[in-house]
Amino acid sequence: MITEPVLTIVIPCYNEEEVLPKTIRQLRELREQLIAERLISNKSTLLFIDDGSRDATWTMIYKASLRYSEVKGVKLARNAGHQNALLAGLFSAKTRSDCIVSIDADLQDDVSVIREFVKKFHEGYEIVYGVRNKRDADTFFKRHTAQGFYKLMKAMGAQLVYNHADYRLMSRRAVEELERFEEANLFLRGIVPLLGFRSTTVSYDRKERLAGETKYPLKKMIAFALDGITSFSITPIRLISLVGFVSFFISIFFGAYFLFLKFTGHTQTGWTSLITSIWLLGGLQLIAFGLIGEYIGKIYKETKRRPRYIIDLDLFNLPMPGSFFGEEVKMTDQKKRV
Ligand code: UDP
Ligand code: MG
Repeated sequence: MITEPVLTIVIPCYNEEEVLPKTIRQLRELREQLIAERLISNKSTLLFIDDGSRDATWTMIYKASLRYSEVKGVKLARNAGHQNALLAGLFSAKTRSDCIVSIDADLQDDVSVIREFVKKFHEGYEIVYGVRNKRDADTFFKRHTAQGFYKLMKAMGAQLVYNHADYRLMSRRAVEELERFEEANLFLRGIVPLLGFRSTTVSYDRKERLAGETKYPLKKMIAFALDGITSFSITPIRLISLVGFVSFFISIFFGAYFLFLKFTGHTQTGWTSLITSIWLLGGLQLIAFGLIGEYIGKIYKETKRRPRYIIDLDLFNLPMPGSFFGEEVKMTDQKKRV
């Protein structure tokens, strides 16, 4: 007999106290519906990752986990950033799930699409990408910077799924394979397509944040884009070499021209071109140094092999007597773990 798959919904939360009660309610409702429709097992859970929030986010997750057995939480010891919080969630969830959906806490992404994700999983897809149809709800600025980012990444040679953020379903196997990418600068949206399992997309309309403010200010957005480019592509370095070649040929041409001026006795007129080329080359060199520095920075981080996140408390993997997994845990065992 084929049983329904166990689904875990992973939700990274950073200072989300305003929106969390609504999120918990909506996702619990959806879970109930999916169980009633026999799409997922009743062992399916919601896993909230508190990414070092400074407000009441963790208290809310903890209280909800005491009240509802399907709500679980993991608390990171400090703010590790959205991508790392997501990884913490995926890797904690994988041992007890057949498939995992990741979604933002603000529910800008339509939760009912999870039903489509699961249906696709039943059809045999191992990775299902949620793709935004339109971004009317986003500000003009966010929309254009985001689209520019996708285009830039494509030009740089990274295979991104257009208009897909981190709203997706992954099978347990896909997450296990993802874990084998041990790089510290893990750029999820670029890596997941590299896994290569059978995949498909589901499109939906992106809504406005239910409450609270964006946790991605311009500074974080730029850092994210830079991270994506430099951890995925060596095109910038190639561009620099190209610029180097072009300026080399131009300087040969100008060199010949200056020699011609020298022999015809008009040397003083060379001052303008000289000063411009000094500035131009100086600028180019600085850009080149900056870019090489960026890559060296990456190498530096990789060689340190720091852990990407440190878990403080893990209610998800803490075996409890009488938990729904029915594991027999001796008290001594439990004490050791706590
Ligand atoms: N987030 C996080 N850690 C951070 C920043 C954000 O876990 O350092 C979470 C946040 O709680 C939300 C998701 O990442 O669930 C996406 O953030 P947000 O909705 O603010 O980004 P936007 O939709 O504006 O791009
Ligand atoms: Mg959002």
